[in-house]
Amino acid sequence: MKKLIVFVFTFLIIQLHARADEGMWIPLLIGKNIADMQAKGCRLSAEDIYNANQSSLKDAVVQFGGGCTGEVISSQGLVLTNHHCGYGAIQRLSTLEKDYLTNGYAAMNKTEELPSPGLTVTFVVRIEDVTKRILDSLASEMTEVQRNKKIADISSTIEKEAVKETHYDAKVRSFFYGNEFYLFVTETFKDIRLVVAPPSAIGNFGGETDNWIWPRHTGDFSLFRIYAGKDNKPADYSADNVPYTPKKYFTISMTGVKEDDFAMVYGFPGRTTEYIPASAVDMIMNSTDPNRVAIRDLRLKIMDEGIHMSDTVRLKYLPKYKGIANAYKKWQGEILGLKSFDALEKKKTFETEFTKWTQQSGDRLKKYGNTLHQLDSLFALARPLSRISDYTNEAAFGVEILGFANSFSELIALAKKDSVKQNEIDLMVGNAKKRAEGFFKDYDERVDREMFAELLVIYRDSMKSEHLPQYFKTMNQKFKGDMFRFSEYVFSKSVFASKEKVLALLGSFGKSSPKKLEKDPAYALASAISENYDALTLRLPEINSAIAIQMRNYMAAQREMQAQKNFYPDANLTLRIAFGKVKGYRPNDGMNYIYRTTTDGIGEKFRTGNEEFYMPEKVLSMIDKKNFGTYAVNDTLQVCFLTTSHTTGGNSGSPVINAGGELIGTNFDRVWEGTMSDVMFSPDRCRNIAVDIRYTLWVIDRVEGAGYLLNEMKLSSLKM
Ligand code: ASP
Repeated sequence: MKKLIVFVFTFLIIQLHARADEGMWIPLLIGKNIADMQAKGCRLSAEDIYNANQSSLKDAVVQFGGGCTGEVISSQGLVLTNHHCGYGAIQRLSTLEKDYLTNGYAAMNKTEELPSPGLTVTFVVRIEDVTKRILDSLASEMTEVQRNKKIADISSTIEKEAVKETHYDAKVRSFFYGNEFYLFVTETFKDIRLVVAPPSAIGNFGGETDNWIWPRHTGDFSLFRIYAGKDNKPADYSADNVPYTPKKYFTISMTGVKEDDFAMVYGFPGRTTEYIPASAVDMIMNSTDPNRVAIRDLRLKIMDEGIHMSDTVRLKYLPKYKGIANAYKKWQGEILGLKSFDALEKKKTFETEFTKWTQQSGDRLKKYGNTLHQLDSLFALARPLSRISDYTNEAAFGVEILGFANSFSELIALAKKDSVKQNEIDLMVGNAKKRAEGFFKDYDERVDREMFAELLVIYRDSMKSEHLPQYFKTMNQKFKGDMFRFSEYVFSKSVFASKEKVLALLGSFGKSSPKKLEKDPAYALASAISENYDALTLRLPEINSAIAIQMRNYMAAQREMQAQKNFYPDANLTLRIAFGKVKGYRPNDGMNYIYRTTTDGIGEKFRTGNEEFYMPEKVLSMIDKKNFGTYAVNDTLQVCFLTTSHTTGGNSGSPVINAGGELIGTNFDRVWEGTMSDVMFSPDRCRNIAVDIRYTLWVIDRVEGAGYLLNEMKLSSLKM
C-alpha cells in the first residue's frame, strides 16, 4: 500500500511538473510558484521578482504603447521592445525621403533621439488583492446589473483612494471571470523618443513568410528612451525634459543560453480563454476562426496588390497589412493546433468528469448542476450572431470608406438635436477634422474601391437575404448585383472619398449638413449596415451577460473541483510572469527543432531569393567575415531561441530572463504549431520565440554604429 501511495504521489508530482510551463502568473502571488521555479533552476526569490516596497524586477518591466511590453535596460531610461511594437511610431516618423521603417535609424547622441507623440510607457507601481473588499459588498440576491454597478462603484472608490495625492493612475481589474479582483497602481510616461530602429530587413526579416514560424532569424527589436521632467516624474514632451532615472534596470547577460536553462518572461499578455467549455472551443475552431480567415484572405490579397503598386501605397498600407496578417495567420495555426491536439475531445472528457463531480453532492448539483448545459445553449445562440458580427465588422467595415463615413454618425445625431449648443458641435467638428486628416494620410482610393467591390460580395453572400439591409438590397438590385458598378457610384458621389470635400463640408458645417451627409451614398450604406447589425444582434448583450454569469460559476466550480491545483487567471493585459525552460520541440513525426538559430540561417534564407529574406550586402558581408566581436561564442552569433513559457499577444517585447534575473532576450512571437496556447496549452508543442540579446546588441553596435549606447548598460559575463 505504501508503495502504491508513493507511486501515486510521484506520478502527481511529475504531472504537476510536466504541466508547470503552462500559466501566466500574477506577480503579487509569485510566492506560490517560487518553489517550482527554483526546481527548474531559478535562483531568484519571490521578492526579487515582485516587491511593492523595494525595487524588484517588476520595476524594469513596462507596458509599451498600450498593447506591448518593454524592458528598461539602462540607468538612463533606455527601453527595449520589439520592432513590431515600435512599428507605428517608426512609421509616423518616416517619410519617403527619410524612410526609417525601411532603412532604420540610430541616434548618435541624445539630441538626435526622435520624440514620438502619442507613445506611452507604463510602470506598475503596485498590485493589491481587493477581492474581499469587493465580494463582501455584494449580496447574493443582486441582479447582474446591480452587481456590476456595485463593483464599478467600489472599484472607483478604491482607485481614488489609491492615487490620492499622487500622479499615479489606478484600475481595479476582474480575474477568474469575476471571482477575484486586483488593484493596479500605475505610472505613465508620455515623452518617449526613438533611439534605434533596425532596418526592416533585420527587424522584420522573413516578413509574413516567417511570421509565427520556427526556425526564425528576425531581429525584432527597437530601442526607445523614456524622458521625464526634472523631478524624474512623467511630463508632456518638452525639450527641457531629461532621461528618466529608473528604479531598476536589467543587467544584460553576455553568456547566453543553452538547452534546459531556466527562462522566464515578464510582461503584459493580452487575452487567453483557457477555461471555456467545449461548445466555445468548437465555435472558435469551426466558425469564428475560419470565417475571419476567409475574409482576411481577400483583404490581404487586395492590399498586397496595392503595396506592390507603388512606394507611396506601400508606406501607407504595409502597417495595416501586417496588423491584419498577424491574427490571420495565427488563427490558421490555432485551428490546426486545436485539431491535432484533440482539444475538443480533451474538453469533452473533462466535462464528463466535471458532470460526475457535480453529481456527487446535492450542494454541488444545486450550485453547478446546470452550468455546462446553460453555457452550451448560450454558445449555440451566440454562434450565428458572432458570424454576423464577423461579416459586418471584418467584411463590410473592412471597406475603409464605410468605416470612416460611419464615424460621422455621432456628429450627425448631435447636430440634429434641437437643444444642441454650438460649442458642442464645434468640438465634434474639430475632432472630425483631425480624424479626416489621419484617415487620408494612410488612404488610397484605388485599394479601397477594390475592397468595396470584393468585400461587399462576401458580405452579401454570407447573409441570408432577409438579413441584408434594405438600402443594400435596393442598390444591389439597381446595379444588378455588380459591386464594381455600385462602388463606382459610391466613390464618385460620396464626399468621404475626397479629403478636400470632407474638409470643405466640415469647414462650413451648418444646419443643412446633417441632411446632406445622411444622403451621402457611403454614409447611407454604412449606417444601413450598422443599423441592420444592431437589429440582428439585439440579443447579443443579454447573451454575453448570461455567458459572463455562467462562466463565473464554471470557473469557480473548476477551481473547487481541482482544489489542490494552483490556477492562473486568463490573460487580461495585466502584468504576469510565465516561466519554463529553453527548449526545442518536435511538432510532427520525424521533425526535431533545436532551440536556437544563428546568423548562418540568414544567408541560407537570403539565398532562396524570396524578397522577404532580403538583407543588405553590408550585413551579409559582416556575417560572412564573422565580424561579431564579443557578441559571439566560438565565432557563432545566436539570433533567436525558444522557451517553453506560456505567452500571448501583448507579451511582444517582454524581457526573457535567466535564472539569475539577467536579460537574455526579447520575446516576440510563438511557433505556428503552438498558437492554440490561447485556448489550450500543450507543453510539447507550445514555444515562445525570443531574439537573443547579444544579436540585438550586435546590430545596435556593429550594424547601426551606436555602440556608445552600451556604456549606459550593465553587461554581465556570469555563467548561469
Ligand atoms: N507575435 C505575437 C503577436 O504580436 C506575439 C504572440 O502572440 O506570441 O501577436
